[in-house]
Amino acid sequence: MNSIVAIVGRPNVGKSTFFNRLVQRREAIVDSVSGVTRDRHYGKSDWNGKEFSVIDTGGYVVGSDDIFEGEIRKQVQLAIDEADIIIFVVDVEQGITPMDSEVAKLLRKVKKPVFTAVNKVDNAMRAADAVEFYNLGLGDYHTISSINGSGTGEILDAITDAMPEPEVEEESEKEDLPRFAVVGRPNAGKSSFINALIGEDRNIVTDIAGTTRDSIDTKYNRFGFDFNLVDTAGIRKKSKVKEDLEFYSVMRAVRTIEYSDVVILMVDATRGFENQDQNIFWLAEKNRKGVVVLINKWDLVEKETNTLRDFEAEIKRQIAPFTDVPVVFISVLNKQRIFKAIETAVEVFENRKRRIATSKFNETMLEVIKNNPPPATKGKFVKIKYCMQLPTKTPQFAFFCNLPQYVRDPYKRYVENQLRLHYDFTGVPITIYFRQK
Ligand code: GDP
Ligand code: GDP
Repeated sequence: MNSIVAIVGRPNVGKSTFFNRLVQRREAIVDSVSGVTRDRHYGKSDWNGKEFSVIDTGGYVVGSDDIFEGEIRKQVQLAIDEADIIIFVVDVEQGITPMDSEVAKLLRKVKKPVFTAVNKVDNAMRAADAVEFYNLGLGDYHTISSINGSGTGEILDAITDAMPEPEVEEESEKEDLPRFAVVGRPNAGKSSFINALIGEDRNIVTDIAGTTRDSIDTKYNRFGFDFNLVDTAGIRKKSKVKEDLEFYSVMRAVRTIEYSDVVILMVDATRGFENQDQNIFWLAEKNRKGVVVLINKWDLVEKETNTLRDFEAEIKRQIAPFTDVPVVFISVLNKQRIFKAIETAVEVFENRKRRIATSKFNETMLEVIKNNPPPATKGKFVKIKYCMQLPTKTPQFAFFCNLPQYVRDPYKRYVENQLRLHYDFTGVPITIYFRQK
């Protein structure tokens, strides 16, 4: 389970600059593929072999100046409730402001790891100025410059030290039941769907507390399938503040998605596939989870010959380039295709576990490559000699070649598409690496 790191602090201390520095590399990869910039306040990062989620709480502050202070207090409280690790950013140029002291007061009571980052320490002289931040009462601080990067490695060392060791990628230690998370906008029909799944007979096998404090896995047996529904709704009750903040729903979605194997994204057909749906989809993709899109309330849509086809095409356009995703049109109200929905989620779960033998894989993919080799760059030819599925939990593939730097995105997409034609990875994000051999 990856840790969630929240960046808090008042405006203009450099939170988003620091955030961008943490997630930059990965963000760039995502953007080059999709060509779209999406949620800018959430990202993934890794350091010292530990992968974690980062949330810039400042990005979610909305409202006029007079409610600003209250907003920030709320953000900090939410970060305290929901994140695993908190980074409190302050500004050496400004010194300690009253708002900093207030935030520090909240943070002093926190049992979770809190790191104070004194930002804008661009040179040695400013490092000396930083001592005043001892007065925050939060103990040791780290001096950083988000602009030039100095000190960021040291604070990341400290932060990742505070995280649990990454899970060992063992296949069969735990029971091998699919873990489904039902997510989507309010009113899409999530609770109705879950109720329909649970059914009148409430065929619940067991309640087991999740591996981490906040998650609850409930085991179900329905339509002949065994699966766990991941539910983090319990966290809501503990939270001291209202959940009207976008930041809060993002935090919830991050958690729920990280706990699951397959994300069941429920969309309200009468509203179409909206921005927030796209963000959830992207979160699932980024976390390498399986995805099934359910278009609910199909009973309310007036249908003509091509309605379904057009609807699906529009969704595929919005989720590109990862379009190999099942879309199921359902009506929870009429109990239409609910079985199909679960069956599809189970299939995606199986696809995500698919392992391809190396010899067969080479046979197939080297043939594909031979028929359409990478184009020459600057008169040089890329020769792909060998390929394999990597021994990772989710499908990742390596293609070994002489000049990996010359393999462009279009060719990578071609290889991915071919791979998906030959092997069923429907609903599953896959990663392809070209490596030096
Ligand atoms: P946020 O409101 O806390 O997210 O702050 P921003 O990241 O938007 O930064 C506010 C201002 O501080 C911007 O003009 C940044 O360029 C500047 N800034 C951020 N980090 C540093 C730094 O390490 N050194 C200096 N000198 N300026 C910085
Ligand atoms: P949630 O907020 O995502 O959990 O959504 P709910 O399950 O509470 O459903 C929101 C509203 O949509 C309720 O009034 C449901 O009765 C209604 N609803 C859910 N599924 C369907 C459906 O398939 N068709 C129609 N017409 N209404 C539905």
